[in-house]
Amino acid sequence: MDFKYPPEVEAFREEFRTYLDRIVTPELKAAMARSHDQTPPEVHAFWRQMGADGYLGFGWPKEYGGGGKSVLFLHAFNHEMGYRNLPVPVVTLNTVGPALMRVGTEEQKQEFLPRILRAEIEFAIGYTEPEAGTDLASLKTSAVRDGDEWVINGRKVFTTGAHQADYLWMAVRTDPDAPKHRGISLLIVPLDSEGIEVQPFHTMAGHRTNLTFYDNVRVPASALVGEENRGWYYMTTQLDFERVAISPIPQMERIVNSIKELFKDGLGPDETWTRSALASMIADLNVLQVLDMKTAAIVANGDVPLAEASMLKVLSNEFKLRHLADVVQMLGEPSLLATGSSGGLIDEWGQSYEGQLRGSSVNLFGGGSNDIQRDLMAIHGLGLPR
Ligand SMILES: Cc1cc2nc3c(=O)[nH]c(=O)nc-3n(C[C@H](O)[C@H](O)[C@H](O)COP(=O)(O)OP(=O)(O)OC[C@H]3O[C@@H](n4cnc5c(N)ncnc54)[C@H](O)[C@@H]3O)c2cc1C
Repeated sequence: MDFKYPPEVEAFREEFRTYLDRIVTPELKAAMARSHDQTPPEVHAFWRQMGADGYLGFGWPKEYGGGGKSVLFLHAFNHEMGYRNLPVPVVTLNTVGPALMRVGTEEQKQEFLPRILRAEIEFAIGYTEPEAGTDLASLKTSAVRDGDEWVINGRKVFTTGAHQADYLWMAVRTDPDAPKHRGISLLIVPLDSEGIEVQPFHTMAGHRTNLTFYDNVRVPASALVGEENRGWYYMTTQLDFERVAISPIPQMERIVNSIKELFKDGLGPDETWTRSALASMIADLNVLQVLDMKTAAIVANGDVPLAEASMLKVLSNEFKLRHLADVVQMLGEPSLLATGSSGGLIDEWGQSYEGQLRGSSVNLFGGGSNDIQRDLMAIHGLGLPR
């Protein structure tokens, strides 16, 4: 069995690397290092440039203005971006965009898809509520039809990006009497609508997410995505794309390569332990790379990698956390200093190890917690009852 990319994907990868070497400027890297709460203008300019050069949408179908390339090209694209720690407007481009193609009205496709491809607009996701996280179908934020409008009331938590996005891909309860999975609809809500309040909410990773409040927010009837009360299906469609779109494996490869480089002249005082920890990291990484290629191949064949995507999410995030804890142990105090501190250690793309360690814990929850992913593995992988 051959786990390499086909030659045409490998050729694209080379071409894309050369392209990135050309357009990733020191100014862009400096802007990325500076900002945690707000996407800097340099990053927006970078995305628009990639959009204009046809790279943002090259995995999208041609009928929506994309390049019509297969999933494996997209996989190579995400890998190169992730390795360099370059931001991708992943929620908008790789989850909302593809979900809209499947379930949006013709009008919504015309209105939003070309602007997503040009990196002109961004979406945030509004699902989680104070009492509806894992049990998302318990959400209470309501939308009531009033003439040609929906009137929204309620609150959401972890509405990441809502302070700077243009639209919210929002789950609301539209039929309080239906069984809980059946009374939910999806709306596209402009985030500058009257009655929306966005408050900062910071995670241990140092990144901002938000609490959001909705007080008689009015949006037109045309904000409804697909059919009324079919929102649960649309949410899971978007989440399926999210689980496959976000992978920490390229960052893990970068960490291992950076450590190998640091130790190339000797392993330091704790030589035996360091050698053994590094060997475990390489072994873990190989397991993940094989699973990652298998998952990509399943998607490329038009199937849905239910158990595999959950395995990949659980293993990659848990391995990454362990690897970074080991790295800190290997490198000692300098690896615990924040980016920019004098004497602090950073990896080959400018990331501090302590920042990556803090950031990794958060991923155990985002995109569906690891506990729930384990449930899904039992159900879809082993065929155990729900
Ligand atoms: C950084 C970050 C960004 C996020 N961004 C967004 C976003 O943009 N939009 C959005 O809508 N949401 C977002 N979320 C929310 C995320 O999807 C939820 O945190 C997640 O679904 C878990 O919900 P909860 O936090 O309410 O935890 P809870 O559901 O309260 O769970 C708490 C703990 O109990 C465990 N648990 C709960 N139920 C079960 C069960 N049945 N079986 C076993 N274990 C269980 C969970 O695994 C978890 O460990 C984000 C979260 C984080 C951390």
